[in-house]
Amino acid sequence: MSKERICLITNDVETTSILNHKLRDKTGEYVLNQGMPRLLDLYDKYGLKATFFYTGHIAKLYPEVVRMAYGRGHEIGSHGLTHEVSKAFDVLSPEEQLSHLKQSKQILEDIIGEEVVSFRAPAARVDKGFPQVLTEAGFKVDSSVSSQRLDMMFSFGALKKLHWLTAPRKAYFVQTDNIFKKGDSIILEAPISAFGFPYIGTFMRIAPSLNRFTRRVLYWETMCSGRQFVFLTHPNEFIDEVQETTEIERRGSNYISYMFGDVIRHKLKIKNLGEKALPIYDRELAFFKEKRFEFVTCKELYNKKKP
Ligand SMILES: [Zn+2]
Repeated sequence: MSKERICLITNDVETTSILNHKLRDKTGEYVLNQGMPRLLDLYDKYGLKATFFYTGHIAKLYPEVVRMAYGRGHEIGSHGLTHEVSKAFDVLSPEEQLSHLKQSKQILEDIIGEEVVSFRAPAARVDKGFPQVLTEAGFKVDSSVSSQRLDMMFSFGALKKLHWLTAPRKAYFVQTDNIFKKGDSIILEAPISAFGFPYIGTFMRIAPSLNRFTRRVLYWETMCSGRQFVFLTHPNEFIDEVQETTEIERRGSNYISYMFGDVIRHKLKIKNLGEKALPIYDRELAFFKEKRFEFVTCKELYNKKKP
């Protein structure tokens, strides 16, 4: 029997300026006027429905950025309240996590007038006990775990992501007290695809041929196990912004972390930004169309998997 072929196209919508290496409201305007229309047109071309995760910050700033995706049939999910590194979910207390989740959910629900059930943490940073808070806030699907993604040196909060090494690869209901393990809670985890390298927009832009190789390996795996593809990209990767300053903001706490985490990472991350990213992404989507994958949203995956 052939395995099911499912692909989730997911988008994190935020005000991060990749070019200027910081959060910037002005970038949100580019996302609204350039990034989102480009992606929405591309998705229409393939007749696919995607999931868009919004920070409360950008949703409040430009509610239209939410409405435009909702109006075209896509799922609206939460990407937390803010993308500030100091307020990542694995730094906040459980009380703060709950408050951020509830506020972000409310902002989005007020805009679309429909329940929001799917979540992805900014920078995919969550801690073990997170399912309890997610449940309490009324979420059903999480997509913050990236099983067997190994590019940790370039990622903030890296040590806490060691759990990714042992997390299941197929979508799974998590343990109430451990998001990285299979269990019987009501939260469905849809892991972001990776096979050593992550299968995400950033990697697609900076190393297109290596990315195609990763995708082929992942495809072979799907043929064997039915593992869902969960591709992650950002509308802010498809904007043609103007560079404000050449200075790179320092986030790493020591020199090594600054060199790898800030300088090299920045140089890589700006490759094929903006309009140049579109034909590369188009080829990725064409692959799934050609291989007759079913494109589903997070909520649709939940409805397929719920007991
Ligand atoms: Zn994000």
